[in-house]
Amino acid sequence: MGRGNVGPESMGQSMRPDSDHPGAPAQPWPLAAGLEAGMRLALAEAEAAAAAGEVPVGAVLSLDGQVLARAHNRVERDQRPSAHAELLAVEQACQRLGQKWLPPGARLFVTLEPCPMCAGLLSQARLSQLIYGAYDPKSGGVDHGPRVFDHPQSHFRPQVISGVLEKECAALLTDFFAARRP
Ligand SMILES: [Zn+2]
Repeated sequence: MGRGNVGPESMGQSMRPDSDHPGAPAQPWPLAAGLEAGMRLALAEAEAAAAAGEVPVGAVLSLDGQVLARAHNRVERDQRPSAHAELLAVEQACQRLGQKWLPPGARLFVTLEPCPMCAGLLSQARLSQLIYGAYDPKSGGVDHGPRVFDHPQSHFRPQVISGVLEKECAALLTDFFAARRP
């Protein structure tokens, strides 16, 4: 429940949670350890975004179990259309490490399926593993829309695990928009 298991044969592809998609492999991917813990950190970032009046999306970049960067959506505050949580987390991590690519093994936890812009960046940054929570059929670019990682032009494809703490990640967004409706 709430966890998308990815088998070795699915490298670079994403899987939906097995509860909703019985066809998903039963064996968890070995790297799956600690998925919910990482997503809880990303959720805390998303909550901070909501408190600041931003669309609640949060991201955490980790390497070897250590947090390299954490960020949340800041489009409103910065008046910057590219200030998405994923982009800010990747930029922070690269600046901190002083390198243009993320090191092998870097994992990004993000509460919402990345948009096409962020998916393109994650490929450019050579992210090893993307773990996301809620699906975004309207604006997502990983498992919906352009499916950026599936393109032959996408030379680096992060492994994708989707649907981790999906309900909590989606509820934050639903509540945020419900509260703004007149
Ligand atoms: Zn984005």
